[in-house]
Amino acid sequence: MTAPVVVVGGGVVGLCTAYYLAEAGLPVEVVERRALGSGASRGNAGWVCLSHSTPVPAPGVVRYALRSLGRPDSPLYLRPLPDPAFVRWLWRFWRSSTPAAFRRGYTAVAELNRTTFDLFDGLREAGVDTTLTRPGMVHAFLSPTEARHHLALQQEMADGRYPIPDDVVTGDEARLLDDALSSKVRAAYLVEGEGVVDPEAFAHGLGQALVASGVKVHENVEAVGFRTSGDRVTALRTAQGEIPCAAVVIAAGMRSSRLLTSLGHPLPLQAGKGYSFSVDLDPAPRHTLYFGERRAVASPIGTTTRIGGTMELSGNNNRLDWRRVVAVALASRHYLGRWFEDPDDLVGLIRDPWVGGRPFLPDGLPVIDRVPDHANAYAATGHGMLGVTLGPVTGHRLTEYILTGRRPEALTPFRFDRLR
Ligand SMILES: Cc1cc2nc3c(=O)[nH]c(=O)nc-3n(C[C@H](O)[C@H](O)[C@H](O)COP(=O)(O)OP(=O)(O)OC[C@H]3O[C@@H](n4cnc5c(N)ncnc54)[C@H](O)[C@@H]3O)c2cc1C
Repeated sequence: MTAPVVVVGGGVVGLCTAYYLAEAGLPVEVVERRALGSGASRGNAGWVCLSHSTPVPAPGVVRYALRSLGRPDSPLYLRPLPDPAFVRWLWRFWRSSTPAAFRRGYTAVAELNRTTFDLFDGLREAGVDTTLTRPGMVHAFLSPTEARHHLALQQEMADGRYPIPDDVVTGDEARLLDDALSSKVRAAYLVEGEGVVDPEAFAHGLGQALVASGVKVHENVEAVGFRTSGDRVTALRTAQGEIPCAAVVIAAGMRSSRLLTSLGHPLPLQAGKGYSFSVDLDPAPRHTLYFGERRAVASPIGTTTRIGGTMELSGNNNRLDWRRVVAVALASRHYLGRWFEDPDDLVGLIRDPWVGGRPFLPDGLPVIDRVPDHANAYAATGHGMLGVTLGPVTGHRLTEYILTGRRPEALTPFRFDRLR
């Protein structure tokens, strides 16, 4: 029997990649150290969106981050670490925040995203329970100036690829875009067609489809390294033994760098920690909501509302800081009204407080490429704020690369060697 392509990591990126590899007829195995979909792919906001996908390093963002030093209630919170790798990462992040780099980044993402919704449709037609709905996204602001600034940027980014409104709605009419919005919202605009999934259910749906198509899934198995011969990986080494492979895809989220280090090519990944929780609101948002000035979000997920936000750079760990949960809840009150009076009440009001580490490279873009110096090892990681949106297109393009041996044009900006 032919050896399988082994995908390390059962998050949304690994699962989508495994799906398209199997669909192409290759034998595939997935190795996941815990349960499928249990990493950053679990409690996120579930957005599948074209309009809201700019890279995090942007003009002005470093100044913004520096102002957050020592302020754990800030949407972007930086806790300096005495770690040279972290300092180097920040330096590269700063260098990626120029207007030109920002424009290059968002153009690359917008181009990659061209087939995103078609791929989600394809998954659904093939029987995968994607849970995708497309209620549209309302961008809500307390200030019309901020709203116009944001819309202008999104118009530039869309560049005719998808519809975007001409202007913002201001004054009392702004809050009419979604019943859940409060009277403090003074400007807003709706981007129609933007989508949302229940991320946990989506991962589950992908897992079921994989098993149904014969993919072998190893849960609670941790990859620890590789057996190689010349420039080829011949087996994945795990705590439970070796799995021979024809090729390997490293899609282990923020832990990918350890494995890549053992192939001689570490990636500068940091966890961009974000928080979320679920709450029952009345009225509940019908759209996905972006709270402009506070950079927090709300999503209709199942029968509840998931509120999330923050980007915390405080090391590669999954420690939940309750102050950050409170900060997200307080931020949301500007846009949703006073859905709680006292932060102490939150413990009884919210469910499933969650922290997840977005795999984050210093230029804010993923790596979707062959690992340098290796003929059959690939990496798909660093998706930052966009793993759910970009999961299917990542898996689809990477499968094309693995099958043909030629890197698709759309993946050029996501090369490995750009970070050297
Ligand atoms: C608060 C918040 C909100 C977000 N909202 C959105 C959103 O609305 N839309 C969007 O597109 N993105 C969003 N994101 C980002 C998105 O969650 C991530 O980009 C995405 O989940 C990354 O997927 P992944 O598969 O790369 O990583 P993960 O989901 O972390 O998966 C990696 C998997 O690899 C496994 N693993 C690690 N090491 C090993 C090993 N050695 N052996 C075996 N298995 C291993 C892990 O256990 C994990 O399951 C959000 C993130 C956060 C934190």
